[in-house]
Amino acid sequence: MAERILVVEDELAIRTIVEYALRDAGFAVLSASRGDDALAMMDDGAIDLVILDIMLPGIDGLEVCKRIRADRSVPIIMLSARSEELDKVLGLELGADDYVTKPFSPRELVSRVKANLRRAGLEPERGVVTTIGELEIDASARTVRRSGEEVPVTYSEFEILHKLASSPRRVYTREELMNHLWKGSFFGDLRSVDVHVRHLRQKIEKTPSKPVLIRTVRGVGYSFGGEGAAG
Ligand code: CA
Repeated sequence: MAERILVVEDELAIRTIVEYALRDAGFAVLSASRGDDALAMMDDGAIDLVILDIMLPGIDGLEVCKRIRADRSVPIIMLSARSEELDKVLGLELGADDYVTKPFSPRELVSRVKANLRRAGLEPERGVVTTIGELEIDASARTVRRSGEEVPVTYSEFEILHKLASSPRRVYTREELMNHLWKGSFFGDLRSVDVHVRHLRQKIEKTPSKPVLIRTVRGVGYSFGGEGAAG
């Protein structure tokens, strides 16, 4: 059965192009032009993935995302006109899985939809608990604890932290981390690695401005512990 994609966008021209591209790729497409309509449609039926524009009449896309996330783990791809919104979009407060900056090609969007669906369908890793100092990373429960207290992390933050911590002191490039995150199908913006790492540091480091757990290795990438430069 075709996976059901909900497209939420008030600009008719963009919505039409997106709908067409998704149907052409074999998806069942539902669409809404308003945030409140989108929320009602989420309640009505099984939606496998949401494409959500930020600028919407009524309830805007950021608020819609937050409300969907409050009780559902369905993948959400945000459409954004400005890359400065990236920080907000990928943050935990919102919990979107991915974003595409306008203008985008329909083909790129369809690829991102497929990558997100594939990722959402993967079995959680069976698991080990990694303990490093006060930090505890449970791969099967997908939880992170610091001094026994659970630290809420997003899917992407967990994947990056787990990858880094599974090989302490090994330096990972941004490309390696994104390829891990996207199971080899990554072709978006490498800066999102930095955003995820910044959010992670705020959650797990004692002094986020002087990180000792996730180190920056200048000109290369990141490592868990090791001799990298701070910041
Ligand atoms: Ca719009």
